[in-house]
Amino acid sequence: SVRVRIAPSPTGNLHIGTARTAVFNWLYARHHGGTFILRIEDTDRERSKDEYTQNILEGLAWLGINFDEGPFFQTQRSDRYIAAVEQLLAAKKAYFCYCTEAELEAMREAQKANKQAPRYDNRHRHLTAAERQAFAAEGRRPVIRFMIEEPRTIAWDDLVRGTVSWSSSDLGGDMVIARVDEQGKIGLPLYNFAVVVDDIDMQITQVIRGEDHIANTAKQILIYEALGATPPQFGHTPLILNQQGAKISKRDGATSVWEFRNMGYIPEAFNNYMALLGWSPNDGKELFTIQEAAQIFSFDRVNKAGAKFDWDKLNWINSQYLHSLPTEDVCDRLMPFLQGAGYDLTTVDRAWLLDLTKLIAPSLTLLTDAPTISKFFFEEFAEYTDDAKTTLQAEGIAGIITALIDALKESTDLDSDRAGEILKVVMKSQGVKKGAVMKPLRAALTGDLHGPEIIPSLLLLHRKGLAIARLQRALA
Ligand code: GLU
Repeated sequence: SVRVRIAPSPTGNLHIGTARTAVFNWLYARHHGGTFILRIEDTDRERSKDEYTQNILEGLAWLGINFDEGPFFQTQRSDRYIAAVEQLLAAKKAYFCYCTEAELEAMREAQKANKQAPRYDNRHRHLTAAERQAFAAEGRRPVIRFMIEEPRTIAWDDLVRGTVSWSSSDLGGDMVIARVDEQGKIGLPLYNFAVVVDDIDMQITQVIRGEDHIANTAKQILIYEALGATPPQFGHTPLILNQQGAKISKRDGATSVWEFRNMGYIPEAFNNYMALLGWSPNDGKELFTIQEAAQIFSFDRVNKAGAKFDWDKLNWINSQYLHSLPTEDVCDRLMPFLQGAGYDLTTVDRAWLLDLTKLIAPSLTLLTDAPTISKFFFEEFAEYTDDAKTTLQAEGIAGIITALIDALKESTDLDSDRAGEILKVVMKSQGVKKGAVMKPLRAALTGDLHGPEIIPSLLLLHRKGLAIARLQRALA
């Protein structure tokens, strides 16, 4: 049965590239009723941090990308890597290399001068025991290199790209698979080696990851063979590109899932959009849950070409979710953003918050739009806009505002019917049309001529005990 995994390195917060890879693995696993595994590749001790592991776990949980096994940590599996390195050493498929950094540097310089690609020239492949001892006696600390057979073509049938082939001569020469510690013991392995040992042990059937790993796949296939294991299938997903066609980076706005969350995207919309970064359902639908996508997901419809990140599309998807989710649900999601803006929610009840949500949800693109749109409900506005000022200074306005205040004073239980009646009474007593009341009413309540519908806004402000004070302020 299908067993897939993601293997993020905890050297940064959960990246959109990793999250998108997670979505594709998850879709594939769920489509096949398989197992989705999380493995944390924390062998780079200097750059790995617990806080990043936490962020990756929290990010996946926020997205609802649930894993079935793990998280496994590479740092807890060193015995397995050491055993595998020893196996390769015993089979003479790996060896100790004693080259110093200076020697390697000189090698690269010479290659550069000859316009050759940099590579290790395999010079320590066949050291004698005496030569090894001599180097060790000089105090040189070795690394362990894996012998790459050259020339050779390494080919595989990629789930996304069809037949991919790579020449073993383009892999940079015998590769370092593990370091050796001060006591001469085999230390932590390097990525390309550990990943193979893990994928063998975890019985991974498909390795689905970004196309930036293609050269690694060629190296890894050789390691599978050397360890006597059958390689899994590989699928290399297209990179996420910016509008200019370059790999997406921090400068393009956001790259970590947490940033998108803080910007006010909701996980369902974000997952939906990530699934569309390189894949599309055959009916062309753009709005779907990842559960729906899982039912029809296949690699036949994953593109080879890079996936351009399209903010407008993401925003549109997010707004579609916010406009169609149940009010209760949207309300729950707005709360942290309203609180985050410093609004005091202790003075309002749930019913009030639900009515607020109903009022503003249709104009939301992001959850972070909510504090801006609803600011006048929570905070006194500093100044009227110029248009609002002009409106309030027009002739006859004081009479209209005063009449509104008087009517509101008698209406503690204001509902929309009663508000309608009040409007009519004021229109009649002041001898004006509806618009002539609504416009100054909006200006007085919100300080602006634009914003959410004004009658529901009036009801909400009045329930909060703020409507009359705002109208009085307009008279001052
Ligand atoms: N740690 C690697 C990465 O984050 C894993 C790649 C893989 O899936 O093998 O890119």
